Amino acid sequence: MKITIIGAGYVGLVTAGIFSDFGHKVYCIDIDKEKIENLKAAKLPFFEPGLDDLIKRNLERRRLFFTTSHEVAIPSSKVIFICVGTPPLGDGEVDLTQLYSAVKETAKHLKGYSLIAIKSTVPIGVEEDIEKIIKKFSKSKFELASCPEFLREGSAIADSRRPDRIVIGTKSKKAADILLDLHKHISGERIICDLRSAQLIKYVANSFLATKVSFANSVANLSEKVGAEADTVLWGAGLDRRVGHTYLSPGVGYGGSCLPKDVLAFVDMAKKYGFNFKLLKAVDEINENQIDNFVEKIRKSLNNQVKGKIITILGLSFKPNTDDMREAPSVKIINRLLSQGAKIKAYDPVATKNAKNYLKDVIFTSNAYEAAVGSSALCIVTEWNEFKELDLAKISKIMKKPIILDGRNIYNHKKIKEAGFIYMGMGRRNADIS
Ligand code: NAD
Repeated sequence: MKITIIGAGYVGLVTAGIFSDFGHKVYCIDIDKEKIENLKAAKLPFFEPGLDDLIKRNLERRRLFFTTSHEVAIPSSKVIFICVGTPPLGDGEVDLTQLYSAVKETAKHLKGYSLIAIKSTVPIGVEEDIEKIIKKFSKSKFELASCPEFLREGSAIADSRRPDRIVIGTKSKKAADILLDLHKHISGERIICDLRSAQLIKYVANSFLATKVSFANSVANLSEKVGAEADTVLWGAGLDRRVGHTYLSPGVGYGGSCLPKDVLAFVDMAKKYGFNFKLLKAVDEINENQIDNFVEKIRKSLNNQVKGKIITILGLSFKPNTDDMREAPSVKIINRLLSQGAKIKAYDPVATKNAKNYLKDVIFTSNAYEAAVGSSALCIVTEWNEFKELDLAKISKIMKKPIILDGRNIYNHKKIKEAGFIYMGMGRRNADIS
């Protein structure tokens, strides 16, 4: 089948790689000329484990083509996946500029029957605008579907090959059959539903995960007050299969390009339909407060004297195995510490280059040890595996004062004390600083 993917971002590139790997002829369009030129040479715009090999293999086998030209790709494609960004505008509104522009350009080049499947996360009601735009610019027969994407950055390829479910929202049986056929080599339960339900499934899933994170962080904050061990409490509760363990760990809060924006967009969407989604407003507020809580812990560890102190931040990306800095908690934490006069030394295994676009006045180092030299507090912000096995004895010697603020609870408190550190985790009873 000939397929076009519009938007060569995380979702678009992974989708293009997966479908071309099944032998389909896939065009991937982006408006960013430099990105497309790099992709033609198999140079990826971001880090995603395994994606470079997938793209390179399918480019070499001439099944995957990168282009900026709709004219080349659209007329011969039976299915067109729209995978452009839908970033937040502020206050929950979604910026649909990329989407509408992609739909307009697509419509101008449609020929014969085409199925337009929206993979971008979009608020319900947008499908009506999309239909109007296509009808304005095209006389060709088309059908619309919502095919929301659930991949997680860092494990995007495995998630796309073996998703928990494939959601297909459409009113057309023909469209559903085409998409079912296209996904036949991909496992996971199939959900065929109306377009709006498909869009809502995406918002519900992300908002529920965010709710679990904020719930876990609330439990952690309470555990500190009552003298309980949040890790044990949450693990014990999570053993109940109705509760589960995923997304139920204490930390510095959720970030990334999806959860923060989708929670706010869901609140905003609900408001437009006359529903006050109080629960999700609290989820967002708790998430914001968690940054304050962590910064407060750092302040306390330094006897409220942050000014002039070197503080080490380990981990900048919003989670491990990605260099994505969108809504990364590290940015908010670092900016608050900088505004209080701290000097920041930071290290991340892959996100440093990207982090430079988000952070100013930070000393970026090429390893964790360099970042720890002369530091008064070392903060774990992203739980990269390499931070779990640092030579702590060495670190305690090179720091000015051996204090660890473990924002992801990656260390065992006893071991860390043995290495000579003053330690504070999230929701942990055996903290040295209280
Ligand atoms: P992204 O920002 O990484 O990529 C979007 C790409 O679209 C960019 O390369 C941009 O240049 C391109 N683009 C913008 N306008 C265009 C146009 N008119 N024509 C062609 N290309 C255009 O975005 P992403 O992270 O891949 O997310 C895409 C969508 O998928 C969003 O709605 C997002 O919420 C959703 N989503 C993302 C993830 C994720 O983990 N990143 C997971 C599930 C769903």
